[in-house]
Amino acid sequence: MPKRPKTTAAETPKTAAPEAPEPRINPKYACFKLEIRSSTIHRWGIYAGEDIPKRRKVIEYTGERISRRETKRRAEANPGLIYLFTLDKYWTLDGSVGGSGAEFINHCCDPNIVTEIRSGHILYFSDRDIKKGEELTVDYHFSKDVERIPCKCGVTKCRGTINLLS
Ligand SMILES: [Zn+2]
Repeated sequence: MPKRPKTTAAETPKTAAPEAPEPRINPKYACFKLEIRSSTIHRWGIYAGEDIPKRRKVIEYTGERISRRETKRRAEANPGLIYLFTLDKYWTLDGSVGGSGAEFINHCCDPNIVTEIRSGHILYFSDRDIKKGEELTVDYHFSKDVERIPCKCGVTKCRGTINLLS
């Protein structure tokens, strides 16, 4: 039987947890210059690297396509991780596997990005003119029936949670 390779403390990465993907943007899916930086909303954020006009495709949300059962399993295994995007009744994209970087766009109750699902693709469009340097945000629309996650977006009309209220 093959022996498990020995792991020493020196070989164990100290910074990134295994479930935290290294933040990066895949330029193949981005239509504008985008930057990734730390965010006051939550860990990482995506910022406009140039002015983005209203109603333009900004980036596609990509990830591993998983079934409803697998979605439930992953959500329960990583309750703090929110890289799961519901595509339709049957499928979810897990942005932590093969994500374009769109999975790092934070939630805001007054977002500047809206999502559209077109032929099995999740597309992020600008909902208004976005200035260079602005953080991109989207409303996660989490179900009111799942565990409530507090929102720290800080806008005046913040509903206090990233879940829907009704
Ligand atoms: Zn909010």
